[in-house]
Amino acid sequence: MSHYHLDRRDVEFVLFEQLQLEKLLNLPKYSEYSKEIFDMVLGEAQKIAMDVLAPMNEPADKEGCRLEDGQVKIPKIFHDAYEKYKAGGWVAPHAKVEWGGQGMPVSLYLAATEFFVGACTSFLFYPGLTASAAHVVELFGSDLVKKNYVEKMYSGDWTGTMCLTEAGAGSAVGDLLTSATPNDDGTYNVVGTKIFISAGDHDMAENIGHLVLARVKGDPAGIKGISLFLVPKIWVKDDGSLGEANDVTIPSIEHKMGINACSTCVINFGDEGKCRGYLIGKRMKGIVAMFHMMNEARIVTGAQGMALGNAAYQSALLYAKERVQGTDISNMKDADAPRVTIDKHPDVKRMLATMKAYSEGLRALILKSAYLLDMSESIDDPVEAARLRGVLELLTPICKAYCTDKGFKVTELAIQTYGGYGYIREYPVEQYMRDVKIASLYEGTNGIQAMDLLGRKLPMKNGMVFMNFLGVIGDFIDANKAHPVLGGAVLLLEKAKNKLGEVSYGFAMSGQSDPDYPMLHAVNFLEMMGNVVVGHLLIEGGIIAAGKLPDAKEGSSDAVYYSNKVKTAQFFATNILPGNDALAAAIVSKDRSALEIEF
Ligand SMILES: Cc1cc2nc3c(=O)[nH]c(=O)nc-3n(C[C@H](O)[C@H](O)[C@H](O)COP(=O)(O)OP(=O)(O)OC[C@H]3O[C@@H](n4cnc5c(N)ncnc54)[C@H](O)[C@@H]3O)c2cc1C
Repeated sequence: MSHYHLDRRDVEFVLFEQLQLEKLLNLPKYSEYSKEIFDMVLGEAQKIAMDVLAPMNEPADKEGCRLEDGQVKIPKIFHDAYEKYKAGGWVAPHAKVEWGGQGMPVSLYLAATEFFVGACTSFLFYPGLTASAAHVVELFGSDLVKKNYVEKMYSGDWTGTMCLTEAGAGSAVGDLLTSATPNDDGTYNVVGTKIFISAGDHDMAENIGHLVLARVKGDPAGIKGISLFLVPKIWVKDDGSLGEANDVTIPSIEHKMGINACSTCVINFGDEGKCRGYLIGKRMKGIVAMFHMMNEARIVTGAQGMALGNAAYQSALLYAKERVQGTDISNMKDADAPRVTIDKHPDVKRMLATMKAYSEGLRALILKSAYLLDMSESIDDPVEAARLRGVLELLTPICKAYCTDKGFKVTELAIQTYGGYGYIREYPVEQYMRDVKIASLYEGTNGIQAMDLLGRKLPMKNGMVFMNFLGVIGDFIDANKAHPVLGGAVLLLEKAKNKLGEVSYGFAMSGQSDPDYPMLHAVNFLEMMGNVVVGHLLIEGGIIAAGKLPDAKEGSSDAVYYSNKVKTAQFFATNILPGNDALAAAIVSKDRSALEIEF
């Protein structure tokens, strides 16, 4: 029996009642889909998550990975599950039909991914990275490479990785030392060592396509000189059949805090000088191609934070409804008073409400972002498509950093809700916390995301993308200020949004004269913006729910769900959004103490 519980009702609310996913059905790209198919997909995803993936989570975490004679062994139970996952078409259902995918909307795929990641995070690295790597090959590979790799990877027969990090080049990718030299046959000889490579080796598929960042000898230093290569574990002949092992070896694997069943490898390319790879995209434009993968991966990483936060919240909620401890506060002095379950205590209610608000808000943010991607890639209107892409770019660092930081916070609150039992391995929440922590570190640390938001995303189109985005929230505020139930929450959103605008204006005005100060506060700024974005989505959801409440049968599960949705929005607006005042006060203070302390 697994510990995993998912919240399909809220997933369906966000997809169908808030985002109105059925709108996609009017677009030619999704003409083969229907609401019934959407429902069936969610049902199948739930089934595979509960029946196949969730039971592996705990045993696979305990078993972990090991290196035997240069070959990484992952938990045996993953092998059978991987075959079922592949057979269900889950590796890349969002890939194009011509490449073996099902052309599924990314928003639906990410809703399913929440179930899969919540059920067994470590497992998801193998197919998840494969789909992203295959997409880069599809977009940037030569015809030969595409013919030989894309379908094999999208089907999951071969897996994929993303190899950026080196011992001396983590956040500063441009400092990498891995090199490439052109061969006469058009391939490149690749030499170097990458570290921390997720799903870097395993015994579950017959080949692995590594996407490796390297510098062709003689090309300029830094990011601008970097190229991208596809380096297979087993060389693939031009006719598509497997050839000899490439010169790719695994000297060691990492022993980690979490995601123990995902192999994290050191990979040596070209120890014997015989490692061959294909250039992917243009020479010295490797970072452009890799960023394509990373932008996708950043939203998926945000989904990891969201999914594990949600899993932890569901566990804590069930536990709190069963765990009996103490009496009701009004009976505290009566030794014979009836004992109550802990969900009756106000402080536990505070923790549950906080977890619920973040969990549902993060879900809405991830699914909304995926919906923006779906729309931007399928509508005819190029101007509107560009606008949607701009919003998505603006939101990407928030998806990544806010969802993973808050997802971690939710797992921590879940442990707190359990009390001492939360710290004990018998219960699932300590694993959720260990498994989610990595998400704030890879795909660009959350500090780097905040710098990206402030330094690159805010100035996009001279600040117009950000200003238009605030304008959309402003329109929502104007339209809903007088809402009979959530009007007060809308006013709190207005205050938080105005603070965000003021602070961003201050950053813009301070110009280039003092680059340290804005970066000192980039994380605070990202938090402010995350609060506004999630607050907006929760209040929007609350207003939709308030509108449906009168038609819901009294006492029905729908009535309870909608009523709770309204109160959750109210809770976030009252308890979280005022935090923007404190964050803004720190930002505008001009206090430089952190910069001046001698560490
Ligand atoms: C389990 C695991 C799996 C991973 N999977 C992969 C993978 O599949 N592929 C891959 O290529 N890599 C992978 N990584 C590597 C990961 O992406 C890096 O660890 C990450 O990019 C940070 O690099 P670093 O560890 O060298 O930290 P550093 O770059 O040394 O950063 C340390 C701290 O300094 C901060 N910092 C660094 N530079 C700056 C700056 N300019 N301004 C402000 N702050 C800064 C960082 O935010 C961080 O807080 C993985 C790592 C782990 C632990």
